Amino acid sequence: MLDDKNFDLFVVGGGSGGVRAARIAAEHGARVAIAEESRFGGTCVIRGCVPKKLLVYAGRFTEEFDYSTSFGWKIGDVNFDWHAFRAKSDAEVARLERAYRTNLQKAGVQLFDDRAVIEAPNRIRLLHANQSLPTQRILVATGSRPARNEFPGCEHVLNSDDVFNLENIPERLLLVGGGYIAVEFASIFSHLGSATAIAYRAPKLLRGFDTDIAHHLETHFQDRGIDLHPGVTIQAIDRLESGTFQVLLSNRKIVMADAIVSATGRIPNTSNLGLEEAGVKLDPAGAIIVDTEYRTSVSSIYAVGDVINKANLTPVAIRAGHAVADKLFAQIEGAGALGPIPTAVFTSPELGTVGLSEQAARLSFKRVRIFRSEFTPMKASFAVKRARTFMKLVVDAESDKVLGVHVVGADAGEIIQMASVALTMGATKADFDRTVAVHPTASEELVTMRREFMETQDQ
Ligand code: NDP
Repeated sequence: MLDDKNFDLFVVGGGSGGVRAARIAAEHGARVAIAEESRFGGTCVIRGCVPKKLLVYAGRFTEEFDYSTSFGWKIGDVNFDWHAFRAKSDAEVARLERAYRTNLQKAGVQLFDDRAVIEAPNRIRLLHANQSLPTQRILVATGSRPARNEFPGCEHVLNSDDVFNLENIPERLLLVGGGYIAVEFASIFSHLGSATAIAYRAPKLLRGFDTDIAHHLETHFQDRGIDLHPGVTIQAIDRLESGTFQVLLSNRKIVMADAIVSATGRIPNTSNLGLEEAGVKLDPAGAIIVDTEYRTSVSSIYAVGDVINKANLTPVAIRAGHAVADKLFAQIEGAGALGPIPTAVFTSPELGTVGLSEQAARLSFKRVRIFRSEFTPMKASFAVKRARTFMKLVVDAESDKVLGVHVVGADAGEIIQMASVALTMGATKADFDRTVAVHPTASEELVTMRREFMETQDQ
């Protein structure tokens, strides 16, 4: 019965998904509480997307300084002040955290700075306050944490959280892993002056992405002097007296580094939350199992975000949190339905991708048409740089629907956001073709590719 429950919804975890659910539920008139044991904003705001993107901007000035001389600028010595940057970045993150808290409070959500655990399907315990609170429903949005691998010397390895607190820019940096985080940090720290290497176990970077995209990124990284070590894992790390780390790879090669950052995926935060005791089922990776409406195996308990380990992206968690609030407190159905999920990797060059890779499309469609374009963008060609831009469309030959769009080059993330509108609407190649180009831009290539790419063509 509603009357004997204090809250209509208790959200555990103040990250992107949890905060959105709490705010929208309160705006729908529900009595809502949210508990966060660390800082409101979660991984994305505090130690992920936001400070990372600021670092990306910081690093890219290196390229701009370089380009500027071709455009007539004369600039003297330039230096990067890591401490000045960090102070500014920390202040920005603190500002956003305050904004998150204020917005929740304005919506009427009750905030608890505490660790909350599930005591029963309708009861939350606040550990520090040692308080037990009844609630009609619970939303678990506790996110994930970096995975750790065990090997001799693994205690010397940092993770993505630690990167934002580095005392200095390492002279030599080794990234471990070939996914989003490893390639983004490799790109950033190479810009900021670190001699950078990446060691990854797969033959190519960015497994799951279109292989052309991964290939282009590898080529660019090599051009930028980033050392790639594919097909390896870390066997052992020794700390020498000088403080340098000697890293033994599985192919017996040795890499010397001043810092080693591992980015080998993330683990859902489901331990010691009272989930299993309450009857919430987890999958073998420890993620919460939910249905299409984010309901767990316990009817009063829902879960969104990295803790369900589906598409671990902020906008997906936000969409899910919003949908749970809409469904429970405004009877709005289907708000969580996802179309193709666009994503960007903030390397230099940037990657943007939406829909199916060529490899995935070939598995599910009888005949796939490929359109590709590789060119030197205007700015680079003026500056006589080798920076090539690459774009690719994957099309179902039968229906003419565009199944995937892939971009490597400046502003790929911005470009792919708009391409994803077209894909969400089910655009065909003919729709792309009849779209008028914007000239001169790089993205006009997406609407001017007419010749189908054949395997026999020179790559
Ligand atoms: P990813 O899943 O992207 O990549 C993990 C990498 O670690 C892969 O190369 C994987 O190799 C490798 N790996 C996994 N386990 C091991 C192991 N035991 N030993 C050696 N290598 C291993 O994870 P990240 O940590 O890079 O990022 C976490 C998530 O955060 C991403 O999946 C993404 O959802 C999100 N994110 C999104 C960003 C964005 O949108 N721009 C930016 C940063 C993070 P293999 O391929 O062989 O499995």
